[in-house]
Amino acid sequence: MTSQDQAMAAPAAQDLSARFEHEFGSAPDGVWQAPGRVNLIGEHTDYNEGFVLPFAIDRTARVAVAARADSTVRLLSTYGDQGVVSTTLDTLQPGTAKGWTKYPLGVMWALRERGVAVPGLDLLLDSNVPLGAGLSSSHAIECAVVTALNDLTGAGLAAEDMVLATQRAENDFVGAPTGIMDQSASLRGAKGHAVFLDCRDQKANLVPFETEPAGLVLLVIDTKVSHSHADGGYASRRASCELGAEVLGVKALRDVGVADLEEAAGLLDEVTFRRVRHVVTENDRVLQTVELLGGAGPSAIGQMLDASHASMRDDFEISCPELDLAVDTSRAHGAIGARMTGGGFGGAAIALTPVDAEQAVRAAVVKAFADAGYRAPDIFTVSPAAGAMRVA
Ligand code: ADP
Ligand code: MG
Repeated sequence: MTSQDQAMAAPAAQDLSARFEHEFGSAPDGVWQAPGRVNLIGEHTDYNEGFVLPFAIDRTARVAVAARADSTVRLLSTYGDQGVVSTTLDTLQPGTAKGWTKYPLGVMWALRERGVAVPGLDLLLDSNVPLGAGLSSSHAIECAVVTALNDLTGAGLAAEDMVLATQRAENDFVGAPTGIMDQSASLRGAKGHAVFLDCRDQKANLVPFETEPAGLVLLVIDTKVSHSHADGGYASRRASCELGAEVLGVKALRDVGVADLEEAAGLLDEVTFRRVRHVVTENDRVLQTVELLGGAGPSAIGQMLDASHASMRDDFEISCPELDLAVDTSRAHGAIGARMTGGGFGGAAIALTPVDAEQAVRAAVVKAFADAGYRAPDIFTVSPAAGAMRVA
């Protein structure tokens, strides 16, 4: 563990309970946690009804919660200096919450919309999922809260229902038009596994993914850049995919196979064709990666990661110089495969790296960024970890 990793280690659940008691005056009913996630492969395939392969990581949001007899809601995070935010269930509507409280309140609202009898509550949040690094710190909060409320109310929701409730919270309460990937990884992930998710029927299957026995580590390189055209870029990529599906006469690009691409080239304009080719080949790479992980294991998937990055850089055009530098430098110094992960135009890259090469890759990336005059990246390892659960 590096000193940075140590600094981010989660406090024990008992410590969070003690802190809760100190802040709110009595012990919590329990402590629940949910992890952030990294998408191993399958980018911009979700809204094309295709495949994604994220995994839950060993960074979690924890919530200590006590149900109350009245409709008061008191929320406190160990991060930031907002202090206790007090509100009431009676005024819980989209547009009423500010800052980080949107996430827990959004989940409470979405559960009430489903008819779950959510009580007033006191809640203390502590998370070691880095914020805004593309690891879904916001979904980690939502998934910890939905898991806690499912237990506390005895609502008996299945994982699929909790996925949909947190999606509703994000879309309609927080106002972020996100899909189901992040929650599915956080709620359904398992140690030593990735979550193979079919975004058409929302079925999830666990696929073995263990880095350590293969002598590998998965490095996340957070470039800390966010290019201003990210929102417009996302919307225009989605529009290209919709156009492609329409011209090719399919419901979604999920229905186009690699073998159909030659014909598609004759029907689509040059740019739309390249956008389509990314989605079609990326879906295929997810399926191949799942096969490889079930067979030869993680040391066999390097080429898939590399090809995914090339496709996003050249066909989908959502990479940026910082991400390309992170990927190229990692590969040049021993990573067996690397790709940008997430929506693009900034954010993080992942590099699957032999343990022996980890320090060399870290040092080379730091140096390359300094030489290029870029902001210093954050580099840390993640491993495939357990999904959401009660811990105390
Ligand atoms: P990401 O989910 O990729 O990390 P988002 O912008 O979706 O990025 O979510 C980040 C937001 O989540 C922060 O702005 C903050 O409101 C909230 N958040 C995450 N972690 C915490 C925390 N420990 N305490 C309070 N708020 C948090
Ligand atoms: Mg988020």
